[in-house]
Amino acid sequence: AQVNQAEFVKSSVRTEDCPSDGLPEFALVGRSNVGKSSLLNSLVRRKKLALTSKKPGKTQCINHFRINDSWYLVDLPGYGYAAAPQELRTDWVKFTKDYFLNRSTLVSVFLLIDASIPAKKIDLEYASWLGQNQIPMTLIFTKCDKRKKKRHGGKKAEENVQDFQELISGFFETVPPWIMTSSLTNQGRDEMLLHMAQLRNY
Ligand code: GDP
Repeated sequence: AQVNQAEFVKSSVRTEDCPSDGLPEFALVGRSNVGKSSLLNSLVRRKKLALTSKKPGKTQCINHFRINDSWYLVDLPGYGYAAAPQELRTDWVKFTKDYFLNRSTLVSVFLLIDASIPAKKIDLEYASWLGQNQIPMTLIFTKCDKRKKKRHGGKKAEENVQDFQELISGFFETVPPWIMTSSLTNQGRDEMLLHMAQLRNY
């Protein structure tokens, strides 16, 4: 599983506007600042591909990147951005939920969780919603290279990962697959690409 080619295709405001060629896709979603752009760039081995989705006006869109001409990585807007006005957040919820429930080519949602800090309520709520709606999900723990900090409870990435899994276990019949990653060291990169290749071949 290798990325030989990656190109930005389009930004869509509604699910109906997304590419209609039927290629399978994986959506990356997580709290603002979780490391989503860094992970996307690390996956495609480019420093700036994900900048496209950070441009003003594109951050609230569904951004499609075509990989090897055969599947898509989809960058969804980050949630939980404290400065976002309430209406925007409500819109965000409506719009991403519509995408999750109606995008037939969506193979799995990759929910990004920052492993350098303890579980956040909003992440748990998000995981719970995906579980209740039986949306296939993979947990991607980010920033696994980060050293523990006292002010964050002094826990290591592994401990935060374990805590998070325990907290969400009640939302799922079977434990969702999970991968530990770091965009700094590229930890988990090959594992993610292999996982996506396996899911595509089901
Ligand atoms: P986004 O808002 O989710 O797209 O997050 P970014 O990719 O912009 O990253 C947010 C911050 O976290 C930046 O300061 C990054 O340098 C940092 N960051 C992202 N990934 C990692 C990682 O794997 N390890 C460490 N230590 N820092 C990271």
